[in-house]
Amino acid sequence: MKIIETISAMQSAADEIRLSRKTIGVVPTMGYLHKGHLSLIKVARENADIVIVTIFVNPTQFAPHEDFNSYPRDISRDTQLAEMAGVDILFIPSSNEMYPSDFLTTINVKHLESKLEGESRPGHFQGVATIVAILFNITKPHVAIFGQKDAQQAIVIKRMVQDLNFDIKIIVAPTVRESDGLAMSSRNTYLSPIERSESAVLFAALKEAEYLIKNGMKNCLTIKENMSKLILSKKSAAIDYISIANPITLDEYEILEKSQLVLISLAVRLGKTRLIDNILINI
Ligand code: AMP
Repeated sequence: MKIIETISAMQSAADEIRLSRKTIGVVPTMGYLHKGHLSLIKVARENADIVIVTIFVNPTQFAPHEDFNSYPRDISRDTQLAEMAGVDILFIPSSNEMYPSDFLTTINVKHLESKLEGESRPGHFQGVATIVAILFNITKPHVAIFGQKDAQQAIVIKRMVQDLNFDIKIIVAPTVRESDGLAMSSRNTYLSPIERSESAVLFAALKEAEYLIKNGMKNCLTIKENMSKLILSKKSAAIDYISIANPITLDEYEILEKSQLVLISLAVRLGKTRLIDNILINI
């Protein structure tokens, strides 16, 4: 596995791969790799000749009060895991390289960026869309893999790729979970033992919503009330939002109808740790 730290070296390597008529699959990450990331790498392997993983804790997608400084980092462990997973190139740029002092450009995927996570984390998706566009221009992929775990991120990126005509196929891979249903996340390491055991309630609430819907419940307010009750039965839990929305526009549904695709998503705080999760269902 090659480790590349500069933009020019990464672009030259990508050019060489393309010249040899091989395809590139990229998996953008913020590192502290877990099985969720590894599943994305596997999907990249299945869909491209050469797999590039990027590791960059992107400062512009964190608000000043958020966890940019404390975000878990372990490059030597990540390097080992990436190598074992068969990654061809690990791209680990520095912040100065990615954001020189005269950097001015941002990408805004209007409407989509201000809902759900965007409402709770203003500016987050501007940071995400901009860094992903930068990484696309540096790694020059044919295919990019994102996780359903960050459903809104995948929706925003897909729209950016469509609107700006990036010639890149976006694949969204399923969420990898712990045995109790908790979606794997680098942030799970923040949880105390009690919070960790209570954190299974996020997936339990999503499954409760799915059960209610499959049994004919159409009123979204009632479904959300049931989910809230379950979540708030856990002492450390506080709800940031629960959403039942159209997975393309992210507009909220009030009453569900047959043959709708529904994105049920939530953000919950367990103590100081904010976790998100979602499921996509077809009714
Ligand atoms: P992150 O390092 O958290 O920015 O995540 C990098 C990529 O991995 C994103 O596309 C995430 O959606 C994806 N990802 C994170 N957690 C999971 C998971 N549990 N299952 C599948 N994909 C995930």
